[in-house]
Amino acid sequence: MHATITHWLNNTAFAGGSRVTSPVTNPATGEVTGLVALATVEDAEQVIDAAAAAFPAWRDTSLAKRCQVLFRFRELLNDRKGELAGIITREHGKVLSDALGEVSRGQEVVEFACGIAHLLKGGYTENASTNVDVYSVRQPLGAVAIISPFNFPAMVPMWFFPVAIATGNTVVLKPSEKDPSASLWLAALWAEAGLPPGVFNVLHGDKIVVDELLTNPKIQSVSFVGSTPIAQYVYATGAAHGKRVQALGGAKNHAVILPDADLDLAADAMVNAGFGSAGERCMAISVAVAVGPIADDLVAKIAERAVAIKTGDGTMDSDMGPLVTRAHRDKVASYIDSGEAAGAKVVLDGRKVSADGGVDGFWLGPTLLDNVTLEMSVYTDEIFGPVLSVVRVQTYDEAMALINNNPYGNGTAIFTNDGGAARRFQNEVQVGMVGINVPIPVPMAYYSFGGWKASLFGDSHDHGMDGVQFFTRQKAITSRWQDPSQGGINLGFPENG
Ligand code: NAD
Repeated sequence: MHATITHWLNNTAFAGGSRVTSPVTNPATGEVTGLVALATVEDAEQVIDAAAAAFPAWRDTSLAKRCQVLFRFRELLNDRKGELAGIITREHGKVLSDALGEVSRGQEVVEFACGIAHLLKGGYTENASTNVDVYSVRQPLGAVAIISPFNFPAMVPMWFFPVAIATGNTVVLKPSEKDPSASLWLAALWAEAGLPPGVFNVLHGDKIVVDELLTNPKIQSVSFVGSTPIAQYVYATGAAHGKRVQALGGAKNHAVILPDADLDLAADAMVNAGFGSAGERCMAISVAVAVGPIADDLVAKIAERAVAIKTGDGTMDSDMGPLVTRAHRDKVASYIDSGEAAGAKVVLDGRKVSADGGVDGFWLGPTLLDNVTLEMSVYTDEIFGPVLSVVRVQTYDEAMALINNNPYGNGTAIFTNDGGAARRFQNEVQVGMVGINVPIPVPMAYYSFGGWKASLFGDSHDHGMDGVQFFTRQKAITSRWQDPSQGGINLGFPENG
């Protein structure tokens, strides 16, 4: 008998009326560890109604009180993040240090949101016309939806909910059904921090629930992160129902290594960025573009490092964990098959990995493919696994054309010792987040995270000032007050002050 993973409503677990569940597995053992409830439309309506009902009181709660709750949440999270990392590793598979890193990146957004009083200050123009002042305020939207992917079950929701809550909104989070428990741990932490009932709710489910969030008139905005086809669907459907939508999609991130680069630094970076979190990161580097004569050396240096990666159970002394499900593991392995069949050279073969973990774990070791060409599916598709492709080109311009012709535009990096080349790269590249000798350029919480092209639908990135603006609408007020000393209404002021 497996435990049922429930929804969360009004600061307590909520079973809902559905009997439909989806299995949650420990990817390191292959065992089913729980059954997550998949909500019905009626369950979803109940949660959305509660979030909408909690909005007026939370909107009117003073900034000082809202900040106190945020600070308490931050302290509790900081003290107990090891617990959350353990939950992430059990359901996602990433190693504990990666899980802890994910929580810390999410915590940065909570810390950013603790400064909301400063971030929400409006503008004021005195005497725009005689006795007329103009000013602006930002007000929360209402009940907002967050729909998140499996690969960062704590951090991705935390890109949004600290800012949404701090600005006075109420939240319905729809996590991935593959690793749903982190969201409930976070919900319980909010309750402990003193967040009133109904302000933060969790609704598990599939397309039925997503469609309800996209069409229910009580939901004011949708923040989505996931694959590009679903992001596109969420953006189009949500917008057609009058909602504000930010929908972040998939990625195919290239790193360009110029001939003058420090090849040891570049090889270290390729290994970390290609195989960290088993490549299940939207900012993972999946294509290393070797420019000019350095390709052989670069491939040798990457292979020598990657072969030392210990694949195994994330709770043990491993560098890289399993993939999230057996189906995903098999899909990634099939890309390696097809790359090999199409003529790519398999320098390091993750299909032959000997992993330190359960025999039924979803194992695939680091894989390095050389001589990858543009028509191969390992190049055209987002693989989302520990597979690094090396594409060889002769010039910087060829490398730039590769990136700018790619449909995705999430992250990219250049490795060089030439400041002028780096400067030209940052200017020309059609990608939202750019690293210079930095392989995974995820911006700090006070900047905003987001890609371009098929990596983001909508015009708002996450957190930073984009986040504050997304979760608030602006109101401009023009007011006229007659000055009593100029013959206006007598308010009883003494004549001479
Ligand atoms: P996914 O698109 O399968 O799922 C994302 C969310 O959408 C989940 O909550 C899921 O339940 C829901 N969903 C799935 N199918 C649906 C459907 N047909 N209709 C409505 N909702 C549906 O993505 P995933 O596999 O969980 O995550 C991996 C993907 O997320 C990768 O493509 C990765 O690049 C992307 N990602 C992007 C970013 C970014 O910042 N751009 C960050 C993390 C992950």
